[in-house]
Amino acid sequence: MERKILLIYTGGTIGMKQDPETLLLKPFDFRQITREVPELKKFGYVIDSFSFDPVIDSSDVKPSFWVELAGIIKDNYSLYDGFVVLHGTDTMAYSASALSFMLENLEKPVIFTGSQLPIGMLRTDGKENLISSIELAAAQGPDGHPKVSEVCIYFDSQLFRGNRTTKYNAENFRAFRSANYPPLAEVGIHIKFNTAALYRPPEWGRPLILHTDLDTRVAVLKIFPGITEPFVRSVLSTEGLRAVVLETYGSGNSLSDPWFLGALGEFTGSGGVIVNVTQCQAGMVDMGAYANGDILRQAGLICGKDVTTEAAVTKLFVLLGQYPDNKDVNKLFEIGVSGEISEK
Ligand code: ASP
Repeated sequence: MERKILLIYTGGTIGMKQDPETLLLKPFDFRQITREVPELKKFGYVIDSFSFDPVIDSSDVKPSFWVELAGIIKDNYSLYDGFVVLHGTDTMAYSASALSFMLENLEKPVIFTGSQLPIGMLRTDGKENLISSIELAAAQGPDGHPKVSEVCIYFDSQLFRGNRTTKYNAENFRAFRSANYPPLAEVGIHIKFNTAALYRPPEWGRPLILHTDLDTRVAVLKIFPGITEPFVRSVLSTEGLRAVVLETYGSGNSLSDPWFLGALGEFTGSGGVIVNVTQCQAGMVDMGAYANGDILRQAGLICGKDVTTEAAVTKLFVLLGQYPDNKDVNKLFEIGVSGEISEK
């Protein structure tokens, strides 16, 4: 059967072209993608495209954008074998994380990609990223089911679980990293899938469920030596704030000043959710390892283990949207839903 892929163009560097007169980068009409990448015709697939209008720099991404994007995927879910989302790199890790929580029971590939150099430039990384993403989105196993059945980011020969990624390089073609989870596939002469790391649905054919109620009453607070009480208190007293992602040191340790622990304790004591995540690029929070971590457990924080900040924020948006009572969110956050947290 002919494979059908939907390309969804949202904006970002990948879809830009240099205006020959002004030399400025401008988005090109994405319906003409085959003119820019004639190689696409060599796939024997049906490749349809959908373009956001207007397209956006991903620095402008908002939760309403994720709702629109998830809706497009849901509306076209039965019509296509896979989805490739062309997206700016700046917030791609947030968008891929968000979609991984918003699309429950996903069984088809949703592959985000983009580029560091526009597709119209000679040394662009965009063509390879696009072509390989399409191939990955169309890949089937011998059982006829998709090889990839989750939200991913493909960049510079590596396929990652989307909610495990972080953008860590603003210059190199290798812009993304997934420090706590191995690549799902490596693309060289052959595509090598890491079968053990890929998500497999417990059964096939479950209906896709869309979560579009996103509650954004979340703050991210990064501690640093010298952080002051008025600053912490002003964040925690933000009107309506329901949850905080606290970026701590190392394996989840913080300053032990009584004012700091007191402020956190007051917030959790009045029902607020605080998730302890690490500022480190790799490794996990273990609040039982040091006295300076244990004090955070006593202040009522929950353990983010090895979740990225991007995944923590977007998971909170979805959980808070689903559960009006913070107690439920406190209970549910530590349970992995889309492979975003390691068990140990
Ligand atoms: N600012 C751009 C964006 O994220 C950068 C990129 O596409 O890589 O949309």
